[in-house]
Amino acid sequence: MILGLLKEYGTETRVALLPETVKSFTDLKVEVLVEKGAGEQAFATDADYEAVGAKAVSRADVFGKADVLLQIQPPAEGDVDKIKDSQVWISAFNPLWETELVKTFLDKGITTFSLDMIPRTTRAQAMDILSSMATVSGYQAVLEAATHLPTFFPMFMTAAGTIRPANMLILGAGVAGLQAIATSRKLGAQVQVFDVRSAVKEEVMSLGGKFVELEGATEDKAAGGYAVEQTEEFKKKQQQAINDHAAKANVVICTAQIPGRKAPLLIPKEAVDNMKAGSVIIDLAASTGGNCELTKDNETVVHNGVTIIGQSNYPAKKPIDASRMLGKNVLNFMKLIIGEEGALNLNFEDDIVKGTCITHAKEFYNERVKSLIETK
Ligand code: NAD
Repeated sequence: MILGLLKEYGTETRVALLPETVKSFTDLKVEVLVEKGAGEQAFATDADYEAVGAKAVSRADVFGKADVLLQIQPPAEGDVDKIKDSQVWISAFNPLWETELVKTFLDKGITTFSLDMIPRTTRAQAMDILSSMATVSGYQAVLEAATHLPTFFPMFMTAAGTIRPANMLILGAGVAGLQAIATSRKLGAQVQVFDVRSAVKEEVMSLGGKFVELEGATEDKAAGGYAVEQTEEFKKKQQQAINDHAAKANVVICTAQIPGRKAPLLIPKEAVDNMKAGSVIIDLAASTGGNCELTKDNETVVHNGVTIIGQSNYPAKKPIDASRMLGKNVLNFMKLIIGEEGALNLNFEDDIVKGTCITHAKEFYNERVKSLIETK
């Protein structure tokens, strides 16, 4: 097969494969075409790709010659029209949210895989781009908070007196939240954590965070380790507890999300009104509506002295390591669809291949996307 690596657009700095990973594809006898300049912002030159056996070509050549088109972002405006029904499109296009794009893929008969839909099973862990990128986001969110905060993170005992450590509140202890706890602790902050899944309590504690326990949360084993919608009664109770903690916090890091739904609203405007001037909210759930009512996606707003940062692409701030992790995930996933002599082998008997496939031959493959779109 010919794999075409496309250049990203907008503010994206990552690339789906760094040269080090391209080498693994050429070793598997996959021919790799790289759009000229694709790795530029992740500090990989066309010559670096050519040195490991890829060919740097024009964008038109990638679209014209590749069997499989690969990038991180959903297709850019107008790109869907360039994809042929004989081609396979692989990227992370958030199909539970971008339903119009999914319908277009279906109507055009394009085979598509969305890497953010890789089932979260043990076998798929090494392919899980969400975990990789959440790790980067959790880390970067803390660094960003530390930069904006007008006070220190750690406790300092100096001749000029004792400086108290920063008080952090972390909402959601999934992959990003856990990384945020670890990074905040390394920087010396005190960390309080809320989550609706009781299973994370031990992990939070082992990282040195304090888990705030609230009775009455709804949990569903069938949700595959994810959170589910909560009852109105629980939401009220949680709201009060979060308001109290937010008022004492210097930094709030929001990571709470529910797959395929709007992020839960956990910090209403009144809670921000009660926060200390100079404090910082980093809302990692910004792209799905945000956990804070005042969050604006990809914008920084200041409300009564509280800085609210709605950044949804922190991984783009660490392009080399983020691309390195992504590339390894992509390689591990694509090994499932690369057959003998580098040929494309779509084996839908494999649960990971089937679960990650969104559309193929004008049919839906991923069950969650199928039922979401058919019941809309
Ligand atoms: P996520 O991004 O969907 O959500 C982040 C966190 O927000 C979750 O911990 C969730 O419980 C929490 N949350 C949701 N609503 C909330 C609310 N109202 N209040 C407080 N917290 C709320 O989650 P994620 O980080 O992508 O992953 C969640 C879990 O999935 C992991 O912790 C793990 O158990 C599992 N997982 C499994 C694999 C695998 O096996 N391959 C990989 C990654 C994650």
